Amino acid sequence: MGGKDTAGESVYESTNPARPGEVVARVGLADAAAFAAACRTAKEAQREWAKVPAPVRGRVIASIGRLVEANAESLARLVTREIGKPYAEALGEVREIVDTCDFFLGEGRRLYGQTVPSEMPDKNLFTFRNPVGVAAVITAGNFPVAVPSWYLVPALLCGNAVVWKPAEYAAASAEAMYRLFAASGLPDGVLNVVFADGAQTFAGLELALEEGSVHKVGFTGSSEVGRKVGELAGRHLQSACLELGGKNPMVIMPDAELDLAVEGALFSGFGTAGQRCTSLGTVIVHESVHDEFVERFARAAREARIGDPEQDVLAGPLLDQKFADRYEEYLTWIQPHHQVVSGSTGKITKDNPRGDFDGDGGLYYHPVIVDGVRPGDRLFLEETFGPIVGVTTFTSLDEAVELANRPGYGLSSSIYTTDPKHAFRFREGISAGMVSVNNSTSGAEAHLPFGGNGKSGNGSRQSGVWVLDQFTRWQAMNWDFSGRLQKAQMDVAEIVPDLEFRL
Ligand code: NAD
Repeated sequence: MGGKDTAGESVYESTNPARPGEVVARVGLADAAAFAAACRTAKEAQREWAKVPAPVRGRVIASIGRLVEANAESLARLVTREIGKPYAEALGEVREIVDTCDFFLGEGRRLYGQTVPSEMPDKNLFTFRNPVGVAAVITAGNFPVAVPSWYLVPALLCGNAVVWKPAEYAAASAEAMYRLFAASGLPDGVLNVVFADGAQTFAGLELALEEGSVHKVGFTGSSEVGRKVGELAGRHLQSACLELGGKNPMVIMPDAELDLAVEGALFSGFGTAGQRCTSLGTVIVHESVHDEFVERFARAAREARIGDPEQDVLAGPLLDQKFADRYEEYLTWIQPHHQVVSGSTGKITKDNPRGDFDGDGGLYYHPVIVDGVRPGDRLFLEETFGPIVGVTTFTSLDEAVELANRPGYGLSSSIYTTDPKHAFRFREGISAGMVSVNNSTSGAEAHLPFGGNGKSGNGSRQSGVWVLDQFTRWQAMNWDFSGRLQKAQMDVAEIVPDLEFRL
């Protein structure tokens, strides 16, 4: 799609997780050769796109923002139908695309380079931001439109062409987003969408890297796949932009406002059914407030509304059967030394209902809080994408920070405290790329750097001005108008100080 429609080898059906029998989209999956062909198409188109002045590209981004805004409700409805994200959240996700466009449309009139003083006379130095070329972007489907826009919008603005490989289970949302972008007047081949499975994507990317038709890889997904994609890019001397999983801690100090902390833990633990990269992993609560916190948190989880994502609910179903299967495996990590304090676990069915909700045949799961989690437990150490939150205790802030860093991810984190000293000590010690104070672990804004460290990524950042470094390369230019060869370091005037001088 984009340059040209690729004839799919096999057909994938994306279904509605609230009503798994309902097919939302049927797409052909491309093979490796088709992926590589899309990259060649992009490479052709990029040359002309890079010549379009950046302010004009900025106006295209402005049009995309307007188109998305005008179609916000239908796009959000589609996201809800395809991945089960509650409608209010889906609308927020669509808003994030508009915010991203709002930020980058102005960048088209900035994209500043610098003039830099030279160490020699009659010589000028400059820096320019050049587009990278073709960006191959591979994304997860839990944020099927917002997270891709964090790549697509700045990449296009900077003069790159893009080959986007969305998650299969979010194909309809991706196709709708592609059509909105295309309606902005983007020239053919500048943005291309390829649906493919993981194996063919990897093989296609390898081919394209070998052919020299991909110059930047953007990957949002699991740490496991991110590692492979990062290795592949590294073999071609490229550093991929890797946005991976998280095991996001929330520290609750004895001076915290507990009701606020409970609200934050509920939203970040179970909103989006715990399927955000920034979802809460483990609550690390001071032993003096543990019992009170757990009691309130468990009550809030029991009372939370899970159900039809088109209604006003905290969470809908899991994204897709693949995630339900994986989540059921995480539930087996609950050990005898753990206490489940939230009531029932597992799939919501007629035999395992949630109040009067019997799950309606959808991929709905009970939210689970596991108390008594220990630092050596799998539940403590690994990402558990889905509605399950662990709880453990600490006695000193240093211990809390050490526990928060222990799993080795480093995406988001949060502390609840009323003492600024605790907030700043936490900020300094935590290895995460993002820190919330008296706020949940979730909730990015389009103009703040987003990204992680450790198992959450390789230090790349998206959003705001920071992402420009992913999609441009600095070029340094020097221009000597002295009429002679002036040699740097050698032909530099020297002003001799009297270093023996004393008062
Ligand atoms: P995933 O890693 O299984 O898949 C992500 C994308 O990669 C999909 O498009 C998939 O088809 C593709 N893929 C799979 N195997 C591949 C391979 N070998 N080579 C190339 N591409 C391949 O991730 P998922 O399960 O779909 O998504 C959930 C994960 O994504 C979670 O770990 C979550 O934390 C993470 N995530 C991170 C962020 C972030 O910004 N840090 C945002 C959203 C999701």
